[in-house]
Amino acid sequence: KRMFNFCAGPAALPEAVLQKAQAELLDWQGRGLSVMEMSHRSAEFTSVAERAEQDLRDLLSIPSDYRVLFLQGGASQQFAQIPLNLLGEDGSADYIDTGIWSRKAIEEASRYGHINVAASAKEYDYFAIPGQNQWQLSDEAAYVHYTPNETIGGLEFNWIPEVGDKPLVADMSSTILSRPIDVSRFGLIYAGAQKNIGPSGLVVVIVREDLLGKAHSKCPTMLDYRVAADNGSMYNTPPTFAWYLSGLIFQWLKEQGGLEAMERANDAKQRKLYAAIDASELYTNPINVADRSWMNVPFRLADDRLDKPFLAGAEERGLLNLKGHRSVGGMRASIYNAVPEAAVDALVAYMAEFEKQHG
Ligand code: PLP
Repeated sequence: KRMFNFCAGPAALPEAVLQKAQAELLDWQGRGLSVMEMSHRSAEFTSVAERAEQDLRDLLSIPSDYRVLFLQGGASQQFAQIPLNLLGEDGSADYIDTGIWSRKAIEEASRYGHINVAASAKEYDYFAIPGQNQWQLSDEAAYVHYTPNETIGGLEFNWIPEVGDKPLVADMSSTILSRPIDVSRFGLIYAGAQKNIGPSGLVVVIVREDLLGKAHSKCPTMLDYRVAADNGSMYNTPPTFAWYLSGLIFQWLKEQGGLEAMERANDAKQRKLYAAIDASELYTNPINVADRSWMNVPFRLADDRLDKPFLAGAEERGLLNLKGHRSVGGMRASIYNAVPEAAVDALVAYMAEFEKQHG
């Protein structure tokens, strides 16, 4: 029996996709072998790879002057790869600090150049996003980096920053594909796959063509976006199975009605969960209402001695992985695309039942 999985990542995948992958695991489309066993340069895998890219382009309406790269190393490697490609030999960049993931990006980029923290949510204890009128952007920045959704803190931008002619760089790991976005507002978007895209082992980079070919002279060949783009993300052997499975997810998203349909479903889910938290005496979410994440909903119980019994009861009811990140404690429900509204209904019902017993 499949449980309701609220894991932040690797996260729940659509059951229909896993079933399809299972059905063709040993014999992909009558070829008598698994997709995992094919050359990445074969006509068969090329068709899988190209279809995945096209479906992602369709879903996000990616303009033709953007390249889509399927890379390895996770979003964390992008923390270095971005400055190595965009900072130049001795450049600087503006970063916005909204939590743990943006701080990791800042720390890594600082190894390669001057990083100006143009705004920080620290002054709000990371419970709110500083408005753009408080940002101190610098003239010399090669790009502006921000984290549209902080997976751990549960803080999400519901607006796109205005940065003039500077390339806007966004870590969309935990928000990509949750609703439509205007890709043309960005210079570069990156996202670790293991939430809304597919299994781990893959990071997707969507980069405007004019940003290619600017890598630092010491940038490793494997990390040069130009090399990846020129080689169709196959400079070396790519993670073929993760790429294939992500392609199945993109097909599934199209069948669901695309990102407008995802937006409606995700909006309904987040409304229900935050309404339940706000209406209760036992549970709280500290985030400024306008900045609350749709995908990652952290909440605390009034008495943390209740955390253990809460989690044990949840697990008994098939509600898995609700424990908050070790750095913040409490609970966190990640409600990505593949988490159905029925999972939120079950969680809300359990929260009410638990509050009746312990509130
Ligand atoms: N950025 C964000 C917003 C994340 O949520 C995560 C992982 O959860 C990462 C970066 C790191 O991703 P990876 O483990 O793929 O390196």
